[in-house]
Amino acid sequence: MTSTDTVEKEAKPGGAADGVPRIGLVSLGCPKALVDSERIVSRLRAEGYELSASYEDADLVLVNTCGFLDSAREESLEAIAEALAENGRVVVTGCLGVEAERLRARFPNLLAVTGPQQFEAVMEAVHRVLPPRHDPRLDLLPPGGLRLTPRHYAYLKIAEGCDHRCRFCIIPRLRGPLRSRPAAHVLHEAERLVEAGVRELLVIAQDTGAYGHDLGHAASRFRGEAIRAHIVGLARALGRFGVWVRLHYLYPYPHLDGLLPLMEEGAILPYLDIPFQHASPAVLRAMRRPARQDRMLERIHRWRERCPELVIRSTFLVGFPGETEADFDRLLDWLEEAELDRVGCFAYEDVEGAAANRLPGHLPREVREERRRRLMERQEAISARRLRRRVGDEMRVLIDEGGEDVALGRTYADAPEIDGRVHVARPGGLRPGDLVWVRITAADAHDLYGEPAEEGTS
Ligand code: SF4
Repeated sequence: MTSTDTVEKEAKPGGAADGVPRIGLVSLGCPKALVDSERIVSRLRAEGYELSASYEDADLVLVNTCGFLDSAREESLEAIAEALAENGRVVVTGCLGVEAERLRARFPNLLAVTGPQQFEAVMEAVHRVLPPRHDPRLDLLPPGGLRLTPRHYAYLKIAEGCDHRCRFCIIPRLRGPLRSRPAAHVLHEAERLVEAGVRELLVIAQDTGAYGHDLGHAASRFRGEAIRAHIVGLARALGRFGVWVRLHYLYPYPHLDGLLPLMEEGAILPYLDIPFQHASPAVLRAMRRPARQDRMLERIHRWRERCPELVIRSTFLVGFPGETEADFDRLLDWLEEAELDRVGCFAYEDVEGAAANRLPGHLPREVREERRRRLMERQEAISARRLRRRVGDEMRVLIDEGGEDVALGRTYADAPEIDGRVHVARPGGLRPGDLVWVRITAADAHDLYGEPAEEGTS
């Protein structure tokens, strides 16, 4: 649903013997693209390829691109140019791959171009230009495959594509319509991840709440039980693994209400990531999004009454064509009422191929940027207010990074990479993946500060 500008260059030295084919991977874009990269890496390692730490040592560089925003496209194009200059043998995959002809015209030396979700095509391209070396010992993958995220959390992709037509977004064109994985497939993958040490599952898709709609919500059997391909049923089944289950990218469907009982039971984290995008009905209609944000406010209040611990994260898009100052003020007022915990905000920009490009009333860049800045300032005060309520509480914290003086972790209220962190003083020997009780002693607009509330970890 949204994209970040995270750039990861996976660079694990293989340390393998001579003659082992080595591949460099540059992975750009959102967590969804990261999951694609993980799958590609798992397949490559299963076939005996090593990952290269540097361009020089790589026999081939694979660039997984992102094309959601123009700025992400630019970043992807720069990454391709750099890989060509530094190594010369480059295969491109991911969102930008849908523009293969244009890419080839700009970079005639590319060895291959494949689109998003085309695992087989990527593997074929790699086999063609760099055949695998047969070594049956290298089939021994760790359970759960290889992940680019730290060992204690993992993204779990449950579907691909989207059936909506938000005017600012080209993801349906890039990724196609909704295609869900059967519940049993998802649960088998989750089981392997948990067996491999994962303590937090981050459930993602372009439209997580729509999960299973394309399958008619058909059930599939997991451990002898029929599990429906529906977000509520799947979330309940995931909750049985006994690890944190966090749901991302939920379109504001009415059936999200069905997730509340699961939060009350502790099956999934009381955390909802719902990109609301705006609050003015006129702008929402222009975006082709659900326009009754007043009703949404009522629902948020109801949810919080029912589950006071609920944390809501969202993203907004400001400066959409035709957005007036009154529309924007309405959004700020809505934010004050909604008191969301975490908010990200993009200033609108045209994305090649998006329907919004043809709308009248495009706003100057300074206006769009200024509104983004004002929204984030307003939200910072709201987030700080909500975080201050935590001071004095004892909260469970999942440690992401150990350290001699301070360890860094997260509570249920924070997703990795996009939300805040907890700075844990006097951490002793805390290590990534430890779950500890922490007494919260201070807060700012983003982070919490505290110290362990008891000896030991769990
Ligand atoms: S719901 Fe809208 S913004 Fe999200 S992926 Fe689908 S079309 Fe894009």
